[in-house]
Amino acid sequence: MIEIDELSLIKLIEEIKPKLVLVTCPSGIRLDCIKIISNLSKKYNFDAIFFGESCYGICDLAESEASFLQVDLILHIGHNSTLRRAGKMTYFIDAYDTISLTPVVEKVLPLIRAYKNIGLCTIGPHLKRLDEVQNYLQKLGFSVYIGDSIPPLRRGQIFGCNYSTCKAIEQFVDVFLFIGSSRFHAIGLYNLLGKPVLVLDPHTKEIFSIEKDALRVQKRLLFNFYKAIDAKNIGVIIGLKEGQYNISAALELYKELNNLGKNVYIIAMKEISNDKLNEFQNIDAFIETACPRISEDFFDKPVLSLQYGYKLIEYLKGQKI
Ligand code: SF4
Repeated sequence: MIEIDELSLIKLIEEIKPKLVLVTCPSGIRLDCIKIISNLSKKYNFDAIFFGESCYGICDLAESEASFLQVDLILHIGHNSTLRRAGKMTYFIDAYDTISLTPVVEKVLPLIRAYKNIGLCTIGPHLKRLDEVQNYLQKLGFSVYIGDSIPPLRRGQIFGCNYSTCKAIEQFVDVFLFIGSSRFHAIGLYNLLGKPVLVLDPHTKEIFSIEKDALRVQKRLLFNFYKAIDAKNIGVIIGLKEGQYNISAALELYKELNNLGKNVYIIAMKEISNDKLNEFQNIDAFIETACPRISEDFFDKPVLSLQYGYKLIEYLKGQKI
């Protein structure tokens, strides 16, 4: 079950008095959002349009669609952070998962007996319950660290592209416990810091080390990197989601790779998918400048993140990487 920050939402609606609202949220909480906002719309006399496109992160704004639809307000629900608003009309509304973390934390105890210093991290929906977990583990004698808020991250929070709260406590920690149902957050954490990461999934009550998955991803990224070295034709992708838009990086890659003898094509795309990339039959490898997580997905051709794109340039220039 999800509960949203209804107080902030009502305050906002009373302040803006919108007539037409665009509602966007991650797919996992869409049904809850439809229910809650439909009820509020009757009470506060506005019409709601529910955005049917993906919404993967706080970066995934819908400002241009909102202008096209001529709405008065965008409610972006469920990507909690320190930010209250973005763009011209996006307001972030927090959403929290009401599931208890205690059962899954109790289950992890036999696996962490060998450790003394625990780092805790999670994603937006479970942030409110981190203190509970910290107190519980501390009472059992563990030293438990939670990274302070580093905006836009809240205390103990991570994004798939931002682990700075964990980096800040890395030196004190023997093992990280990641609370959440998404593997890619834990994979990113392991691959960035190289410390053991245990995933505690509050929904399935599963607990597992992310090491094997993370090493598999590392291998795939390296394999793609080496394939991209030999690519004659490279596509540099500009992401058209507002918060992922990075045309300056794309143009820089374009220039550098051209100078290094590659045939480079710039491509603009909103949702990056295997099917869409396969339409570019002339291209041997891609570099996407949008979201670092995308390159971890499965594609038929190599897709490098921006970070690996820069490494590719260094490699081609004969520099050590
Ligand atoms: S850029 Fe990617 S990883 Fe970062 S917040 Fe957006 S969707 Fe998440």
